Amino acid sequence: MADTSVEDLKQQFHAALDAARTPAALKALRDDYLGRKHGRVTALVKSIATAPPEDRRTLGAAANTLKQQIEQALKAREAGVAADARPADALDVTLPGRRGWTGRRHPLTQVRERVEDIFMAMGYQVIEGPEVEDDWHNFEALNMPAAHPARDMQDTLYLSSPVPAPDDGRAATLLRTHTSGMQIRYMEQHEPPVRIIAPGRVYRRDNFDATHTPMFTQVEGLVVDEDITLGDLKGTLNAFAEEFFDARVATRFRPSFFPYTEPSAELDVECQGCSGRGCPLCKQTGWIEILGCGMVHPAVFEAVGYDPDRYTGFAFGVGIERLALRLYGVDDIRMFYENDLRFLEQVAL
Ligand SMILES: [Zn+2]
Repeated sequence: MADTSVEDLKQQFHAALDAARTPAALKALRDDYLGRKHGRVTALVKSIATAPPEDRRTLGAAANTLKQQIEQALKAREAGVAADARPADALDVTLPGRRGWTGRRHPLTQVRERVEDIFMAMGYQVIEGPEVEDDWHNFEALNMPAAHPARDMQDTLYLSSPVPAPDDGRAATLLRTHTSGMQIRYMEQHEPPVRIIAPGRVYRRDNFDATHTPMFTQVEGLVVDEDITLGDLKGTLNAFAEEFFDARVATRFRPSFFPYTEPSAELDVECQGCSGRGCPLCKQTGWIEILGCGMVHPAVFEAVGYDPDRYTGFAFGVGIERLALRLYGVDDIRMFYENDLRFLEQVAL
């Protein structure tokens, strides 16, 4: 009698176990068989006390075995159901993925490096120098002595007295207004031939508006050797523009004036915003100025001890912000300095 009862219970349990597919169904099954108060196996074990004494040993052993078998079967199934349930419960495969944030260099840094790469490929050496400059390197040696009216062209941020002592032009210190001072610094320490570019930040007392910032970036260039001509200058800078914009772009050299070059010119490229028809970005001219250039003035060679009868050369100063405006078709220079990620991520090269 007792054996049959244990065997029945075992078969009923396994039938119920096959049907139990969820954690809740397994919990109910466990309560039904192993529950402390009303579990069927619990009741079976309790019934041993009232069984005939000769059956108690057999019945007890059978009940214990069944209890252990049920316990093991439930544990195995519970683990399986939990593993099956996890993907459906915990992972929504329809959710869009989370994109990682990728750091990158600032657009102006990338433009500057692009300019450097182009000139390095042409055999130029990249040099750097101080942003705090003295009067001699920023003005005096560049053919702008103290009384020279050309100093009025640039509103200078002085760090010391704006009037240099008569016998010492190096006394006044200032934030450099251009990278042209690096021409002097390099030529003072090297003999020709010279073929350098000098990238860096420069400072002027400009308003902060769509086309001006008090701090901006220039790449100065200088080539000095025997027989360097205006043709070399034009060929070099046209090749640079073509390489930089990765296409044939219309350019024009417009006569200009700088104290340290003679003759002087500005290089314009056709406006990207309007393809030359005229728009606010190009002030309706159809052209955007990207650099100033010219043949090195003999007075500059004299200041650094080069023989102006033997050597000639050309110099240029590229405005990195202006190149970036043209390259990206941006119409407000301030956007490069506001650190708005929505803008910066759009203009990455
Ligand atoms: Zn335009």
